Amino acid sequence: MFTLIEIADIVKAKNDISRWSEVIIKGVEFDTRKVVENSLFVPLKGTRDGHEFIDLAIENGASVSFWEEGTSYPKPKDFPLLIVEDCLQAMQDLAHYFVKKIAPRVVGITGSNGKTTTKDMVASVLSQKFKTYKTQGNFNNEIGLPYTILHMPSDTETLVLEMGMNHKDEIRPLSLLAEPEVAAITIIGESHLEYLGSRQGVAEAKMEITEGLSHNGELIVPGEEPLLTSLLANLPQNIVTFGQKGTEDVTADIVDRTKTAITFVTNHFAGRKFTIPVVGDYNVNNALIAIAVGEYFGLSEDDIYAGLASLRLTHSRAEWRKAWNGADILNDAYNANPTAMRLVLKTFGQIDLEPMGKRVAVLADMGELGTDSAAMHREMSDVIDSEKISVVLLYGQWMKNLAVELAEKEEMTYFYFPLEEREALIKKIKEVLQPQDIILFKGSNSMKLAEIVEGISRKQ
Ligand code: ATP
Ligand code: MG
Repeated sequence: MFTLIEIADIVKAKNDISRWSEVIIKGVEFDTRKVVENSLFVPLKGTRDGHEFIDLAIENGASVSFWEEGTSYPKPKDFPLLIVEDCLQAMQDLAHYFVKKIAPRVVGITGSNGKTTTKDMVASVLSQKFKTYKTQGNFNNEIGLPYTILHMPSDTETLVLEMGMNHKDEIRPLSLLAEPEVAAITIIGESHLEYLGSRQGVAEAKMEITEGLSHNGELIVPGEEPLLTSLLANLPQNIVTFGQKGTEDVTADIVDRTKTAITFVTNHFAGRKFTIPVVGDYNVNNALIAIAVGEYFGLSEDDIYAGLASLRLTHSRAEWRKAWNGADILNDAYNANPTAMRLVLKTFGQIDLEPMGKRVAVLADMGELGTDSAAMHREMSDVIDSEKISVVLLYGQWMKNLAVELAEKEEMTYFYFPLEEREALIKKIKEVLQPQDIILFKGSNSMKLAEIVEGISRKQ
């Protein structure tokens, strides 16, 4: 993949490594558990300092390691080290060099929600025609993105990268590193408001993706998003909007929803019904991005259709499971913010029920919402319709606010459980859930709803 001399040059190593010039490097790892024969080890500083584990890396087969200047851990003897100013920067510089060298056509995807899903859809479409590599799992930050790049096979033709952030100024360096030809923003939502201040702040932070975007390239954005209007003016790139209002460049009408799939028609391929094997109306937006990217790359309608139909999500975020008693579980407990929770509640309310079945929603706190958190939890009440959702189980300190709101509604059946009453929540779920019911789980990852889902799922 690289020669040591080449790497030393790219990362501006501060020491002379010419005596090690024969060393072979076949991969880059920062986690010693993943280090294999001939890896370059990158000691990063997380909760622990990677330098602490250098012996383990060597034991596992590392052939060389970065070493941050000024590190006080004892240096391994007789082992090639590249002394660098900053190990993470060195890995990013190497990734930048690598992506330029391999020169795949790069698609960058950001947005408040739906990045991973959209990334998977886009990659599924592009792989119909090109050798495509994509972000594995959710490796979307300043470490994960260069890591992804460094792991792409050298014959990669298209590279689909997820770009995530919590703060402003985090997308810009990712975009500059990867230099996408096409970029997409899935949605300007309400996540990380604590750090970004407002949705305007979110919009500005997401638009940083244009900074490394090729001027001849394309930017795909939600239509009908007033916050973007001024930000889009004067951009050199071609702009394509998507959405389901009918006014966007690429637009869709949903024609059917089942428990496992959605079917829609789009203005771009009139007459064709596209089916995606996922639920949630928002996933149609994600699919529209994949259609726009497919068209940009010149794929045929048949290829785009096949790519979407054969989609396999990295982690099926909104997945269906069976409860111990046969009830259906819609597990969307991976993460939550107001936009996503509202959408999933809406989708959930539209799913067909079995005769005598009811819908039960388990909603837990949404984290990191900043000063308006109480109001944002309270406002979920707008999308909870007692005719559609028969029982609501609220869990966590913030959900108390929604409980107060639901108390005002007539005909509403809800139960509130503070954090410490997790066991009582589980007991209540088991009590209310009948075999013909469907139950939704939604809340921030930190609320650990996934464990509850695991606990009530039917054992294989
Ligand atoms: P993360 O920031 O954790 O990486 P992500 O942006 O990659 O998240 P996904 O993992 O694709 O997002 O989806 C997470 C959840 O976001 C989904 O389960 C769904 O509830 C919601 N979601 C997905 N797509 C959209 C969308 N286009 N608009 C709004 N919400 C969406
Ligand atoms: Mg993701």
